[in-house]
Amino acid sequence: MAEAAVDFTGIVVSRQDYREHDALVRFLTQQYGFKTFIARGLKRPKAKLAGVTLPFTLGDYVGVVRAQGLSQLRTAKGTHLFRQPMADIVINAYATYIFDLIRMAFPEGQAIPKWYDIGKNVLLGLDRGLDAGILANIVEIQLLPAFGVAPQLRVCAICGRDDRPMDYSESAGGLICSRHWAQDPHRFHASAKTIYYMRRFSVVNIGQIQSIKVNNTTKAELRTIIDRIYSDTVGAYPRSKRFIDSLGQWNEDFKPLPPRNAAPNDQRSDDHDD
Ligand SMILES: [Zn+2]
Repeated sequence: MAEAAVDFTGIVVSRQDYREHDALVRFLTQQYGFKTFIARGLKRPKAKLAGVTLPFTLGDYVGVVRAQGLSQLRTAKGTHLFRQPMADIVINAYATYIFDLIRMAFPEGQAIPKWYDIGKNVLLGLDRGLDAGILANIVEIQLLPAFGVAPQLRVCAICGRDDRPMDYSESAGGLICSRHWAQDPHRFHASAKTIYYMRRFSVVNIGQIQSIKVNNTTKAELRTIIDRIYSDTVGAYPRSKRFIDSLGQWNEDFKPLPPRNAAPNDQRSDDHDD
């Protein structure tokens, strides 16, 4: 029985060579979550699919979508390539990391329309000039429940009140107010500004952000704290994050945590995607 091709909408999140003339194109689709499509003949000269499957293209496509294994990409109906990640290596790194992280949180084929919208809003936000590192922070915080970590960021995790300065406590599972600071000697000692942004980031709709101005010190503190939460409680560390950590664009007062399972100077030449 011939399989029927269907229309779908998606964002290309990666593309890699496959066999002699083909390529594998991974989409975050609106309908099916992450799906990997084989694009036959993509590497042949003048292949029509070549121009419409660059990473960070959003479009309407036609393909055979299979529940298991590789789906098959047939054609594109209309596409838009987001230019920012193409033009700037740092923005590209953050965009790659953001989609890698979403992918680690959800199995391929699980419909995640909310995260499709967030991914699309990230790309639109980058086009509007929003800070890529801050967008990554927002996604990181909003992804925590999907990783099974749902920190209390609304009120104090111990007394449920919201009338005192807050700090973050891993042992309490979120924010704790100053009444209980003595209970956790390992609380993060985060600044009020950083706590403010963590709370904002947990509920903000990226599509509605016009601009974000976060000073470098707070940015570095957010990076350090979110790294610590990920390192201690999530454990997801995509390869693309390693590159971001190596960029070294940090405030001198704050250093990112060393990558898990890797020395900071670990730059093996055989470190390619598989
Ligand atoms: Zn409290």
